[in-house]
Amino acid sequence: MEDVVEPEKKRTRGPGTASKFAASQPRAPVRTTVPPTQGQTAAPKLPKKTGLRCSTAVATVLKNQKPGPAAPAQKPGTAAPPKLEGKKPSKRPAWDLKGQLCDLNAELKCCREKTRTLDQENQQLRDQLREAQQQATDLGAERRTLEGELSRVRAQAEQGQQELGNLSAHVLELEERLSTQESLVEELQKEQLGLQEERRGLATRLEEQEKRLQASEAALSGSQAEVASLRKETAAQVALLAERGERLHWLEMERRRLHNQLQELKGNIRVFCRVRPVLPGEPTPPPGFLLFPSGPGGPSDPSTHVSLFRSDERRGTLSGVPAAPTRYDFSFDRVFPPGSGQDEVFEEIAMLVQSALDGYPVCIFAYGQTGSGKTFTMEGGPGEDPQMEGLIPRALRHLFSVAQELSSQGWTYSFVASYVEIYNETVRDLLATGTRKGQGGDCEIRRVGPGSEELTVTNARYVPVSCEGEVEALLHLARQNRAVARTAQNERSSRSHSVFQLQISGEHAGRGLQCGAPLNLVDLAGSERLDPGLAFGPGERERLRETQAINSSLSTLGLVIMALSNKESHVPYRNSKLTYLLQNSLGGSAKMLMFVNISPLEENASESLNSLRFASKVNQCVIGTAQANRK
Ligand code: ADP
Ligand code: MG
Repeated sequence: MEDVVEPEKKRTRGPGTASKFAASQPRAPVRTTVPPTQGQTAAPKLPKKTGLRCSTAVATVLKNQKPGPAAPAQKPGTAAPPKLEGKKPSKRPAWDLKGQLCDLNAELKCCREKTRTLDQENQQLRDQLREAQQQATDLGAERRTLEGELSRVRAQAEQGQQELGNLSAHVLELEERLSTQESLVEELQKEQLGLQEERRGLATRLEEQEKRLQASEAALSGSQAEVASLRKETAAQVALLAERGERLHWLEMERRRLHNQLQELKGNIRVFCRVRPVLPGEPTPPPGFLLFPSGPGGPSDPSTHVSLFRSDERRGTLSGVPAAPTRYDFSFDRVFPPGSGQDEVFEEIAMLVQSALDGYPVCIFAYGQTGSGKTFTMEGGPGEDPQMEGLIPRALRHLFSVAQELSSQGWTYSFVASYVEIYNETVRDLLATGTRKGQGGDCEIRRVGPGSEELTVTNARYVPVSCEGEVEALLHLARQNRAVARTAQNERSSRSHSVFQLQISGEHAGRGLQCGAPLNLVDLAGSERLDPGLAFGPGERERLRETQAINSSLSTLGLVIMALSNKESHVPYRNSKLTYLLQNSLGGSAKMLMFVNISPLEENASESLNSLRFASKVNQCVIGTAQANRK
């Protein structure tokens, strides 16, 4: 249908041939011989503006050509010519054959004319058809081109669609990113606000700091000027200080010299008598059993005399009246009656202890019968009462504190402690720990090296100490060790000598000076004698042997002191472990102090007398001028 219609449309669009054709053709009815069926079927196919009406007219004409009765004759050619144009020709009489012929001829002519016109028209239509076909072909090609174009466009559209899809996804993504960015921007804006706030705060602080800095700078410049002047002052003071230091050192050395002179004047061997108080539960001694006569300066003078009154029952009078008690007077460097405190006692020996720091060997003994207060004097009483502290902790505290004072003058001191027990001529370490605790007999006194005067106890601990706490720990350990031994052998501690040795080493690095001396604090074994007549059983015999060993070593100590005093060529140091161990602290360069501890009880009068006699002998000794151990 399109194929047919399209060219017609085209034809009607342009300066159509049909319109031209229509205009050139009159719409007069045309008589023709074309069969009506042919004309009817063909008629719808023809354009309306063609000679359809003409064909119909022709058909009409042909229908009307029925043979009828002959019409009256008319003169041929006289009749009026038939009208073709729009009007039905007037009917010729039957006779007018000529006229009819003429009409027919005219009609034929007209038909021919029409045929020709129609042929032309046909030709034109064919041309038009060709043209239309050509146009159709062209249009087909155009259509295909357009279809191609369309499919291309569609493909492009699809691609576009796809791109659109991609783009919308991209847009979505971008939108998402945008929202993220927006929230980020929001956050950053908030942060920015916070930072701005902070910046403002910091700016304020900076301003404050700048102000303070300016103030500080001003103060600094002031201080710098001050420092400069102080430096000058300091330099002057340093010079002064050096001068003073020099003077101080000279004074210290002078002090040592004078101190020593004083000690020598007091005697290089001194004896102090100490009478312990009566303990709870003990019988009160008769009044006047022990007297402490005051010195030449009156009662304010420290006591140096002690008198013991002993009534001897064997010396009864004939009348039966008991003889007056015998008075025994003794004088010592100092006598401490029962009420004397530990601090009072220490005060007297503090200067002597200091001699050890100055480089003089010092030996302090506690001599007396068991129970007279030797251990109390040396180590202290039971319990933690600081008032009860004995000489050992007090001496060490004093040494530590003096060493500390001397450090400001350039002296450095170190202290090494050892604590041994000599029982039955065997040496035992009281500082032993672990499995060696409470064991004994494995220690020997040896020289440090060949040709060396210095002695050491093998297998004994030598512990560096620098504070009171360490010393307390050592004394505690020694007490424990003694307690362990006590269980093994009854009251061995009172049957043995305890020797606490402190090796003091001092150095003045600035002046290349060195000094060192031992300080010995000896708690001697009970000096009581055992009546040999009482030694019956094996226990007593053992006790007798013990006592003999003790007595032997104590008398050796006395003999050594005598020999030293008499400046004898042979000093029997080797006769006992005690004197052998202490030989370097007993010689001419040493200072010695002996406490003779006395029981206040009358029942101990005999032993007290023995002790006082022994101490008196020692007190009479004068050992040669001590020499400081200076290197
Ligand atoms: P030693 O060691 O001579 O055998 P102790 O030192 O053990 O004697 O003393 C015996 C007892 O006497 C102990 O209970 C001790 O506390 C006490 N004692 C000794 N001297 C004094 C004193 N000056 N003041 C108070 N109690 C003392
Ligand atoms: Mg004791």
